[in-house]
Amino acid sequence: MYMRINGAEVPSASAKWRDVVNPATGEVIGTVPDGISEDIRAAVDSAELAFPGWSEKTMRERGVLLFRAATIVREEHKRIARILTMEQGKPLREATDEVRGFCNVLEFYAGLSSQPAGDAVRLGGQGDCMVMHEPLGVCGAIIPWNMPVLIMGWKVAPALLAGNTMVVKPSSTAPLAVLSLAKIIEDAGIPPGVLNIVSGSGGSAGEAIITHPSIQKVSFTGSCATGCHIRKLAGSCNKDLVLELGGSDPMIVMHDADVQKAVEGALRGRFYNAGQVCTAVKRLYVHQDIAESFVHLLKVRVESLHVGNGLDPQVEMGPLNNRQQYDTISGIMNSVKENGEGTIQTGGSPFKGEGYDNGYFFQPTLVGDVADDSALLTGEIFGPVLPIVVFPDIGTAISQVNRSPYGLGASVWTRDLATVKRVFQDVHAGIVWVNRHLTVPPEIPFGGMKDSGVGRENGYRAIDEYTRTKTLFLGW
Ligand code: NAP
Ligand code: MG
Repeated sequence: MYMRINGAEVPSASAKWRDVVNPATGEVIGTVPDGISEDIRAAVDSAELAFPGWSEKTMRERGVLLFRAATIVREEHKRIARILTMEQGKPLREATDEVRGFCNVLEFYAGLSSQPAGDAVRLGGQGDCMVMHEPLGVCGAIIPWNMPVLIMGWKVAPALLAGNTMVVKPSSTAPLAVLSLAKIIEDAGIPPGVLNIVSGSGGSAGEAIITHPSIQKVSFTGSCATGCHIRKLAGSCNKDLVLELGGSDPMIVMHDADVQKAVEGALRGRFYNAGQVCTAVKRLYVHQDIAESFVHLLKVRVESLHVGNGLDPQVEMGPLNNRQQYDTISGIMNSVKENGEGTIQTGGSPFKGEGYDNGYFFQPTLVGDVADDSALLTGEIFGPVLPIVVFPDIGTAISQVNRSPYGLGASVWTRDLATVKRVFQDVHAGIVWVNRHLTVPPEIPFGGMKDSGVGRENGYRAIDEYTRTKTLFLGW
């Protein structure tokens, strides 16, 4: 598959290609150009050329085109979902959800295009002011592999609606669905050059986006380590950023919780997408009064999960996305075992056997009695491993969950409003769910505190991330 610059399919100036591997089978399912800084320069040139025409359209005209793109994607969702499963590994059902989620995001922002924008301010004898919200110009986006389609929507929809043009770099291990969607967006009538996609490595194409002087702002989703590096790089060239980084969301289950519902919440919250979700349940805190029965019920459900190739409709959990991720999770679990950092209740090792040997499959894992300083609690486990901590009271639970450097999401499972209030006020997080976890619809702001990032995506205010104000002061 080629990359897309100015509405055309192009190879890279590097003349090199990168393989895209199916993580369930180890087979090469496609190749994409290995983009470099020259390609980013060409993409920015095309985005700059497209900017005047795109930004001069009315917001409603841009909204109509976004809506049309969503309609075509809905018609083709099965084809895109299949591509996503094959490059990313997730079960087809989850890939289908994700493609529909992309459409929801486009439709949500398209719907905002009929809202009035801008403000008028009257200043008595001094005059009157008109505050316009202008697009920034060319914006960059860097996308990870875990939910490439949805995250593309989160960045592209508000930026394009606001009148910006874009250069987007997908992840090297899941670029195919993103490239396919860009073609559909062009087919919907969004002019050539408005959305350009350059595949290539983070170190080369990614850094070229950060440092290109004509790119006004970059929205990045990925790991904290890369986010930190990018922040320094962007600081040196005075570039504005939105950073959606890692998370280690706690799920707190109180003694009065609906246990059955909470067990299903933990199962989905941790093992959806093989645990590779920024807001996955990454630490489970269970009240001591129900801990034994809760963990028993959860273990039964975890052991019943059907793991395999996501194209098989029976499969509930696929492989990890790539070799690096597989080695990281295996390494963490080896160290947990060697250092006695916890008691493995189930799983704990790579999944082996016929049909699994060529893929990056890891067993769904529960770990109890976890040591306070274990990486399972202090870091971010981006895979199907759930550490469980038993707590005596909510005060202790809150102080334990807040030890994490992350602050993305958190959930509390209870029937007691006073507990809800306390968790909402005191837990470090950008979103607190009650009797639910993981759901992130486009209507609500998404983003975290502490090491989890800077800025917000989703919600109507995300458009502000892609505009600046310009004021006309009328002295009369
Ligand atoms: P990553 O290495 O940071 O990669 C994310 C993206 O950044 C990829 O497109 C990558 O390109 C690119 N990249 C890598 N190095 C770069 C550099 N020096 N300059 C510019 N771009 C660069 O992330 P990952 O390890 O693959 O993904 C897992 C992590 O992402 C987890 O920590 C997870 O929590 C986080 N995440 C957070 C959210 C959120 O919304 N908060 C969502 C999803 C994932 P290549 O693919 O070519 O390396
Ligand atoms: Mg990486």
